[in-house]
Amino acid sequence: MKILEVNNLNLGFKTESGFRQALFDINFALEEGKTLALVGESGCGKTMSAMSILRLLPKNARITGGQILYKKQDILGLKEKEMQKIRGAKIALIPQDPMTSLNPLYTIENQLLEVIKIHQHLKGDEARKKALEALEMVQIPCASERLKSYPHEFSGGMKQRAIIAMALACHAQILIADEPTTALDVTIQAQIMKLLSDIKSQLGTSVLLITHDLALVGENADEIAVMYAGRIVENAPAKEFFEKPNHPYSLALLNSIPSKRGETLETIHGQPPTIHQDISGCRFHPRCKYCFEPCGNEIPPNFTVGENHMSACFLNQC
Ligand code: SF4
Repeated sequence: MKILEVNNLNLGFKTESGFRQALFDINFALEEGKTLALVGESGCGKTMSAMSILRLLPKNARITGGQILYKKQDILGLKEKEMQKIRGAKIALIPQDPMTSLNPLYTIENQLLEVIKIHQHLKGDEARKKALEALEMVQIPCASERLKSYPHEFSGGMKQRAIIAMALACHAQILIADEPTTALDVTIQAQIMKLLSDIKSQLGTSVLLITHDLALVGENADEIAVMYAGRIVENAPAKEFFEKPNHPYSLALLNSIPSKRGETLETIHGQPPTIHQDISGCRFHPRCKYCFEPCGNEIPPNFTVGENHMSACFLNQC
């Protein structure tokens, strides 16, 4: 069952040079108990897509069209008060920097109790028991003692676990993990990804994983959507994607992953466009080594290139 569907989402920003569109007809769906990885370079619109789901957008951003369905209900139409019941409680954010969500002045226990009170309406011993269970679930050693710690007494990985514990304490059904391991070293990255995967299998939680790192999603995603300059350019089940990648941008991303020591990696020349640049046709065409006649003039449609596999590239019509 699809727990979250983003349909034809369009978003733009009011800027000094007028309204500039940043997301173009974004479509993806997250199945219950699965992980969907939204992949692409920085600035391609991944985080804006995720923040649109949570309605945590900058003041100058405006959603100009589309639907965001949570359990078939369009949450874009909800009033802020109704949205507060969903944000954190049903759909929770695991941010890149956990300190943006942890208050340095309060203990981990106080912060867990606060969210449990708001979203679970529990107090006293019952709430404290729940806080301890949540910290144990994220495998923090000596959880009952660590509840009394302040965030600065936790390592980066433990802070990230504490944020995940807050989401679990509220029984969040969807975790939006926005580059959750970027600030961590490699061994801790693997532990956090394993934790997210364990939570998914044990609790049936769905995960929307936002990352620029295709190497990270290999073992962790069920479905992959690749974004470039505000568009989804390829979408496929993970196995199919890694076996038969189709879009030149996906291929370039895959070829830039180190697989062997000493190997020369391919780079994608140029930079992704900013929202101030007008790009006609395929938004990847200025950087694409396969660019040919229609690419600079027409927007490539979505071609079906396999089972549940879509790629927006004109090479598929040849
Ligand atoms: Fe490259 Fe053209 Fe395909 Fe765009 S449509 S990715 S420019 S070949």
